[in-house]
Amino acid sequence: MTETLVITDPESDRYHTFGYISWWRQEVVREATVLVIGAGALGNEVLKNLALMGVGQLLIVDFDTIEDSNLSRSVLFRETDRGRSKAEVAAEAVKSLNPDVGVKAWHGDINYEMGLGVFRHVDAIIGCLDNREARLSINRFSWAVRRPWVDGAIQELMGIVRVFWPGHGACYECTLTDLDYQVINLRYSCPLLARENILQGKVPTTPTSASIVAAFQTQEALKLIHDMEVQPGKALMINGLTNDIYLTEYPIKEGCYSHSPMESIVELPQVLSRTTTLKQLLEIAQDSLGSETVLEFDHELVVALECPSCGQKSDIFKRMARLYESAFACPNCGDRREMRLTHRIDGSEEYLNRTLAEFDVPPLGIVRARNGNKRTYLELTGDKGSFLKFD
Ligand SMILES: [Zn+2]
Ligand SMILES: [Zn+2]
Repeated sequence: MTETLVITDPESDRYHTFGYISWWRQEVVREATVLVIGAGALGNEVLKNLALMGVGQLLIVDFDTIEDSNLSRSVLFRETDRGRSKAEVAAEAVKSLNPDVGVKAWHGDINYEMGLGVFRHVDAIIGCLDNREARLSINRFSWAVRRPWVDGAIQELMGIVRVFWPGHGACYECTLTDLDYQVINLRYSCPLLARENILQGKVPTTPTSASIVAAFQTQEALKLIHDMEVQPGKALMINGLTNDIYLTEYPIKEGCYSHSPMESIVELPQVLSRTTTLKQLLEIAQDSLGSETVLEFDHELVVALECPSCGQKSDIFKRMARLYESAFACPNCGDRREMRLTHRIDGSEEYLNRTLAEFDVPPLGIVRARNGNKRTYLELTGDKGSFLKFD
């Protein structure tokens, strides 16, 4: 196919030189929405590149705040930003770098606070993270809704860049070893310890390895946006000490837990996590699949904590993984309280009038409805604006 070159005026068009690249489509780049998870060393460089290229919409996600030690590797942060949200500062910097770019900063934890519907509504996902837990979450979310994601990892002068694309080659979880799972489980079992471990395990990185790896990540995302060929399931290994760069392919793991896509996702624009109740969502599910339909969650939810010694009881409505050890102590007698758990709603519950948010379902989450072997996935599409309204 012959590509038409569109050459614009260099005085008035900041994207002028891209017009000389035969396959580059500035309108495609402008229309694209990219989710960048992590606004640290890699995230800063990725965002800088995406902004310079004029990628139209950027959703920037991070739960962390800026400290002085970030300043040696973060081109978007200034000393005066100390203590501020990384996502928010990065969004402001991107905007000043290129006002054409629409930005949305979201300060929160992707593991529990962001619905996986977010992944459905973006064109590419770039993971700029430093831990296995978050990579595993992104991988499972991406697989569930069949979206490609680009991972980057750095340590000293080494780097790895990988594209994972559900259905095309190995995924991130295929690459995990038994030891990786042990480390992850250890952290999951105690959230407080997890944070300490992650802080202690901080990997030493340089601004150079961050910019090299982030540049490759951004290029892979650019190819995904243009529907160009990428090499999913392979790792680009970069050794900055010896200047060796090579590609290696991962084997697909039989029975990998991530390989379970949601088959039929239904968008529900009228459903919002903050206003829709469990009862209302169950009714929607039953209208479509029949009166025996139940809502199911992949995680255990702690409905209440009850004291076996004195009978004290508190409503909790939180995912088990989000509970801290200190929550278990009985406020009356100090004994350890027991959990009342659930992972399904069948309509007989006394708490049906709670909203989805009160039941720890995140905004733009996706809930499974099941009647026998019939299943459908209900998206809280009304929450789209929480993540995908760009300034
Ligand atoms: Zn896999
Ligand atoms: Zn008690």
